[in-house]
Amino acid sequence: MESCTKCGNPNVIIKRKASGQALCKDCFIESIEKKVKQTIKKENFIEKGDKVLVALSGGKDSVVTLEILNSYVKRHIIELCAVTIDEGIAGYREEGVEIAKAHAERLGIPHKVVSFKDSFGIDLDEIMKRENHRGSCTYCGVFRRWIINRAAREFGATKIATGHNLDDETQAILMNYLEGNMENLAKIGPKTESNSEMFTVKIKPLREIPEKEIGLYALAKGLDIHLAGCPYAQESFRMEISNILKDLSKDHPTIMYSTLRGFDKIRPAIRRELEHDYEFDRCERCGEPSSNRLCRACTFLEELGK
Ligand code: SF4
Ligand code: ZN
Repeated sequence: MESCTKCGNPNVIIKRKASGQALCKDCFIESIEKKVKQTIKKENFIEKGDKVLVALSGGKDSVVTLEILNSYVKRHIIELCAVTIDEGIAGYREEGVEIAKAHAERLGIPHKVVSFKDSFGIDLDEIMKRENHRGSCTYCGVFRRWIINRAAREFGATKIATGHNLDDETQAILMNYLEGNMENLAKIGPKTESNSEMFTVKIKPLREIPEKEIGLYALAKGLDIHLAGCPYAQESFRMEISNILKDLSKDHPTIMYSTLRGFDKIRPAIRRELEHDYEFDRCERCGEPSSNRLCRACTFLEELGK
């Protein structure tokens, strides 16, 4: 049996095919934290005095994001706050909300739970009972972004941190590329910035960590995480791409890293070529920034008669 490449401890919890490294629990935890901090530094994600809002669902990615960013709070570099969105998915969301609350309380982080029902007068379960709905995840994505942007301004946050991991990023790159969706491809990146001051910069501290290792980190640290899957999660194109990448990774363990690295190299060129500076106005209904008369959230709400 192999022992830890770093310290020789015989209790190895991971063997990384990509690097050949075998690591014990402590060295694995250290390696993840070091890597995330390197990403944060390389991408200039945070500056001293930032107030970072974590979009905290209670799932592994957001809990680990909160946990690692909290080390910057301990060193008095940033402040943290967190928002949890309750879409109104009975039998699923409640547990995630409780787990999120417990983590925020444990770390002493200001936290609020915002529901679709309170924000929009309708929750996801109700929407899914409607005929001709656009599919659960479409509403979720748009409504969630609306709530997070607003929460960021209410908290006075200077950054929004999301839990996107290496798998999420490479899936998005491949999906948009294969679909020929170059406008969306140009928007992928470590930071999303907009020329509207009403949008807060979004950062992805876990973007270089594979999903599996985030799960293992949470387990190694004994972090309570929401494991259940959403009942509305559908077989999607993203899932097919995810399966392809997982399959490829078996024989080509560095494939996700190289996809991301390659993309990051050509990204500035793609952006120069394709990114428009959208003119933002205010949505007529809600006042959020929008390039059209109504923002996407309000367009959906009008369709739903809300
Ligand atoms: Fe929303 Fe569920 Fe879709 Fe996730 S899987 S976006 S929680 S409907
Ligand atoms: Zn609106």
